[in-house]
Formats: sequence, C-alpha cells, structure tokens
Amino acid sequence: EAERVLARAHEPGATADGHPVPVLANVTTPADAGRAVASGAQGCGLLRTEVLFGHLDEAPSVEAQAAAFAGIAEAFAGRPVTVRTWDVGGDKPLPFLPAPTEANPFLGERGLRLMRRAPEVLRDQLAAVCRVARDHPVHVMFPMVSTAEEVAWALERLDEAAAAAGGRPAGMRVGVMVEVPAAALAVRRVAQGLDFVSIGTNDLAQYTMAAERGNTAVSALADARHPAVLDLVARVCADAPEGTHVAVCGDLASDPAAAVLLAGLGVEELSVVPTQVALVKARLRDVTLAGARDLARRALACGSADEVRALLADVAGADR
Ligand code: PEP
Ligand code: MG
Repeated sequence: EAERVLARAHEPGATADGHPVPVLANVTTPADAGRAVASGAQGCGLLRTEVLFGHLDEAPSVEAQAAAFAGIAEAFAGRPVTVRTWDVGGDKPLPFLPAPTEANPFLGERGLRLMRRAPEVLRDQLAAVCRVARDHPVHVMFPMVSTAEEVAWALERLDEAAAAAGGRPAGMRVGVMVEVPAAALAVRRVAQGLDFVSIGTNDLAQYTMAAERGNTAVSALADARHPAVLDLVARVCADAPEGTHVAVCGDLASDPAAAVLLAGLGVEELSVVPTQVALVKARLRDVTLAGARDLARRALACGSADEVRALLADVAGADR
C-alpha cells in the first residue's frame, strides 16, 4: 500500500474521474522546500515567512528576503510559490515587530492588522516578493483579513512597493487568507478583484468556535471538522467572485479523508504538510468528484465534529 502511494506521488492531484485538485505544500525553510518537491508537492501554497525569519532580531533587508524567496522558488523549479506576508501577533511574536500588550491577543493586532504599526516592514517584504516574482512564479498572500478595507490598504502597500520597479510583476497572483468568519461570510466583497483566497482552517475554526487553538482546555472545540466551519468553507466556495480561486492551506487539508471532503465542498487547490502530499493525492484518486460531493453533503448534514470524524473514518475504512 505505502509503495503504491509513493509510486504515484509525482502525478498531479486529481479525483478518479480526472477533476484536477492540485496538492501543494506548506513550507517554512529552503530545506522544507526540497523535501516538499521530493514528496510530490505541486508548489508551495503557504510560505510562513514569520517562521523563515523568526530567528532574526532585526527585520531582514529587501535583499535578504529576495534571496531567501528566490532560493525557495528555485527549489520548487518552476512550480508556484505563495509567500504569505508577516503573520505575527497573538501566539507568534517577532523581535522586530511591535508587540502591544493586549488582554486578548487573538482578537487584537495580529497579522495584517499589526502591520499598520510598521507599514515599512510590510513594504520591504512586498518589494522582495515583487523582485523575485519577475523571474519566478511567486505570488503573495495577506493573513488575518477581516474586511475589504483591510484588503484595500494591503493592496496600496503592494502598489507602493511595486512602483519602485515599474508596477506589479505580470503573472504575480495576489490573494488573502480567509481565516476570520467575517471574511468568509463577506468573501464576495473581501475577495473582489483578487486572484485567489486560501482558507486557513486552523484560525477559521478557532474564531468560528470561539475556542483558542492552543488552549488545551478548549482546543478540542476548535475542530475544523465541525459542520459550522465546513459550512463557512462551502459558502466561500459558492460566494467567491468569478475568477477568484479557492484554496485551503489550513491543517484540515492534510487529513486525506478531509481533503476529499474539501474537494467535494468546491475547494480547487490544497496545500498540506509535505509528509502528507502523497497520501492526500492517493485518497483523491480513490473517489470521483460526485463521490466527494456526496461526502460533503453528508458532512454538512452532521450535527457535530465527532459525527463528521466518524463519517470520514467510515469512508476511509470502506474502500480499504
Ligand atoms: C491557518 O490559520 O489555518 C493557517 C494556515 O495559518 P497559521 O496556522 O499559520 O495561523
Ligand atoms: Mg492562521
């Protein structure tokens, strides 16, 4: 079985009837990138830059960031690489970004919100992405977006950064993460004019269930398999503007049975932990698109995350 899965790891992700579902990888370092490609990843759907540069005391220069992004893009050898801008705050401080003391950090200045205090740090990162995007299929994604106004603000910073080099590079795709319920519910407005959205199921579950993902007393509640979270995923797929692609880069996509469910909900691309790429592709190959849609319908009708878990376990067991 393991051999059968590995033998086909480098085929593109698709259902049994040939509906394409590209399977990319979440990476944080150049070494990760090499491993991801060897595992069959069709690109990088999430580069966590705050981890890549997390050891630094000072903000990396445009040059240093461009060199790091270019190295990762080279490892991916022509496959797309999506760079997520600094996603700091809440659980993830960085020495070179202001960290306000807050009573509720997860509801405070996180991700894109925090960048209003240091727009020049965001601009430098965007300048680095733009520089690399001239030679590689590198794309950019903004985290922790709640409103269309925040997206407009981010796009202004992007255009400022790109202006120095004559505008946004042709072919560079621009998107946002959907990980706040408001962004999911208003995706039509929030994603207007964007090339893609990528659903962060880790934070989307945390905020939908009002249960902190790192707090073991309540983290079981923050289960992305809860039908309320799946319902938001379905809405994003249904409501995303024409031409805006819908991906998932949250950890839910790394569970092969859940990956099938996501494809059935209408998700067009998955980004998973590198070690799961081959397994996710193998599960997708096991079902038709109609089968995946049927699974999605049944999951949406479940009453709890446990019921969805049981359904996924059932389906995973059935064709073994
Ligand atoms: C998510 O929230 O699902 C996500 C992919 O981002 P992170 O885990 O880095 O917050
Ligand atoms: Mg997140």
